[in-house]
Amino acid sequence: MAEIRIKGVAKDFGTFTALHDVDLTIADREFMVLLGASGCGKTTLLRIIAGLETATKGEVWIGDRRVDQLPPRERGIAMVFQNYAVFPHLTVFENIAFGLRMKRMPQAEVTRRVTRTAELMHIEQLLKRYSGQLSGGQRQRVAVARALAMEPEVILMDEPLSNLDALLRLEMRAELKGVLAGSNTTTIYVTHDQVEAMSLADRISVMNGGKIVQAAGPVEVYRNPAARFVGSFIGNPPMNFLSASPAGAGQWQVGGQVFAGPEAPAAEFAIRPEDLHPSDTGLPAEVRVVEPLGPHTLVTATVAGQPFRAVIDSTLVPRPGDVLHLAPMADRIRWFNPETQKAL
Ligand code: ATP
Repeated sequence: MAEIRIKGVAKDFGTFTALHDVDLTIADREFMVLLGASGCGKTTLLRIIAGLETATKGEVWIGDRRVDQLPPRERGIAMVFQNYAVFPHLTVFENIAFGLRMKRMPQAEVTRRVTRTAELMHIEQLLKRYSGQLSGGQRQRVAVARALAMEPEVILMDEPLSNLDALLRLEMRAELKGVLAGSNTTTIYVTHDQVEAMSLADRISVMNGGKIVQAAGPVEVYRNPAARFVGSFIGNPPMNFLSASPAGAGQWQVGGQVFAGPEAPAAEFAIRPEDLHPSDTGLPAEVRVVEPLGPHTLVTATVAGQPFRAVIDSTLVPRPGDVLHLAPMADRIRWFNPETQKAL
């Protein structure tokens, strides 16, 4: 069992607090993605779990073992980092075998594991090559294969696909997902790429300013952001937010229209750009920029003077200066507390 529990983990660098009391449980065999903007603390949290950084306070547990006092090699963790330290003077075979040799594993077992993981990563034809002769994408696969060959209970990956071109990244993403879904490994994967996060994760932990703002399944974080930050960070283009003024109990005036909403002293209205459709009775959007994207048209506009975007069917091509009436899908409207920025 490799359930990972992070309990009240905080990290200060001098006077700067990089992590604030993080609590998170990752289930056995779960694929958890840590997602957030640069500097939000993702790598620091991963390094604390790995044992490469010491927490200022808090505990890290793997299964029934408390590991935060143990050296990295005793934690049963394999790691793949952004700069994937592959040794150029060793062959691909010996790079993948590296950790197994350190454990003094018998040669037959080394060969079995190296062959198997090389096949999984589609690099079996490269085993005799020196790693210095490989492309970046091939080296990346070697780094992942080396981690998988350890058959670890826990694998930690920090932006492992960041150095690949777009197409290879897409391929590797699908391969990683396939390989890890069929393994017994619990995975924590750091990225700032929301598409990668959505595609890979069982659950996504969205981080901001050294805190986990929401930890939930990809569809849940997309559809039901727990906080305004999540709605504004996830989705491209991001969620729209409009100010709302009270119009009776549970009624709110937004862009000159009245919507049913929460009973609260104040509220902010939110809707995703693709959850709008043209309708005579919709919100009046003053069109600024129109971008045909193939299947859809992206419209950048203002509603009651506030920035607003809509993704509409490509058969509609409004012109800048037009007023487009856009009706929000009722079940997709979300509301936030303007003060705490949390979902209402
Ligand atoms: P990125 O996506 O850019 O790697 P991140 O979310 O992984 O960002 P961290 O690397 O965890 O962010 O850094 C979190 C914050 O802690 C940043 O503001 C960073 O500048 C700071 N920080 C990290 N390591 C140190 C250090 N050794 N000394 C001082 N500050 C640090």
